[in-house]
Amino acid sequence: MQLLLDLHPDQYPLEGFRRKQLLGWVFEQGAGTFGGMTNLPAEQRQQLEAQYLLNPFREIETVRSTDGSVKYLFTLLDGRQMEAVFMPYLDRKTICVSTMVGCPARCAFCATGAMGFGRNLTPGEIVGQVLAVAGGEGIEPREIRNLVFMGMGEAMLNYEHTMAAARTLLHPDALGMSKRRITLSTVGIAKGIRRLAEEDDLGLKLAISLHAPDEDTRRKIIPTGAVNSIAEIMGAARDYQAVTGRRITMEYTMLRGINDHLWQAELLADLLRGLVSHVNLIPMNPWDGSGFESTTESDIQAFYDTLQRRGMDVSVRRSRGKDAGAACGQLALKRPGAAQGDQFGTV
Ligand code: SF4
Repeated sequence: MQLLLDLHPDQYPLEGFRRKQLLGWVFEQGAGTFGGMTNLPAEQRQQLEAQYLLNPFREIETVRSTDGSVKYLFTLLDGRQMEAVFMPYLDRKTICVSTMVGCPARCAFCATGAMGFGRNLTPGEIVGQVLAVAGGEGIEPREIRNLVFMGMGEAMLNYEHTMAAARTLLHPDALGMSKRRITLSTVGIAKGIRRLAEEDDLGLKLAISLHAPDEDTRRKIIPTGAVNSIAEIMGAARDYQAVTGRRITMEYTMLRGINDHLWQAELLADLLRGLVSHVNLIPMNPWDGSGFESTTESDIQAFYDTLQRRGMDVSVRRSRGKDAGAACGQLALKRPGAAQGDQFGTV
């Protein structure tokens, strides 16, 4: 049977206003079953039930952080697992979604990378994370206005499915999100960055996880051949900006003694010269066995000051959900302190 959420909203079954009703049930009400779509004729509900699956997940568990963030652990229909993180702020609700089970990029500081690659998620499994999180939080799906493709996986290596998911997120009859509120993060797939620049109808924001300004250090952090060299990435970033005119965010996870030297801050400023960018410094979030430590606060400040002095637009991003294993680089299908199983709830 086909997963309904895998379809583009324009291809949903039923005609005319019945299709609109169906879309309304799925994306506004977050309906869990076809049977509950009470304004559709019983016969149509039965036909839908016979042909389509509505729910991409077999099981959903949650871990709640003291800062309000919630990690969602999804078991897919084939038994594989992946995660999303919900982050409620005072003025907005943000979700970080996964595009893969595991990740082939294998960034050395990232717990997801240590899992290896499982498989790509389908468009419906990506969009389904938003619906499931809204259901779990007791809010309407459209209340989640900000989305980042920064969970498990390298979105550019699951390009088609990620773009299909984005089209559903943006579609006015589906989730109706604003393109300015969706960010796609890549660890450096030059071909994908160039392709994204051509997706005029999408207009997603781009974040590049650079993590180092010199190739030797970057290869220590991202040892696989899955990603491109810094020169190739920067070439693609400049082409992207020439086409779109959009600012690019550069993510920089701060690893003590590895990429936090002041000469690297100077080199980063040289590298980004002429590019309209914003640098996000992210203290590394620890996990058991990572072998890395976060840069100290004073060294982060010195790195920040160096970039600022060089005229860079820079900020330090404090990750949320650390105690729930939900912060950047921590997603690995684990409960924080496995003995504390009572932290987990079931949706
Ligand atoms: S940081 Fe992102 S790209 Fe790197 S291994 Fe983790 S999930 Fe993959």
